[in-house]
Amino acid sequence: MNCPKCNSSSHKKNGIVGGRQRYKCSDCDYNYTVELKSTAFSASVKRQALQLYLEGLGFRSIGRFLGVSHVSVQKWIKKFGQELEDLKNEN
Ligand SMILES: [Zn+2]
Repeated sequence: MNCPKCNSSSHKKNGIVGGRQRYKCSDCDYNYTVELKSTAFSASVKRQALQLYLEGLGFRSIGRFLGVSHVSVQKWIKKFGQELEDLKNEN
């Protein structure tokens, strides 16, 4: 993450404001915030991804549609697939 003002990559953490990490640029003292990355996507987004996949959309299309990376989509679908296989094996 670079400073939006001077594009410097050197910064100090300067607290968290409204769920965002605030940084202070070491070069120009400009304060800027970055959305904290949520590692866990909500279950509803994953469910939507699965639905779109079942509709025949590709990982990239699903990713574009939901605003997530196609790598995440791929992982979710793979996981769903495994769970489905497990269910089949149980029955
Ligand atoms: Zn700066």
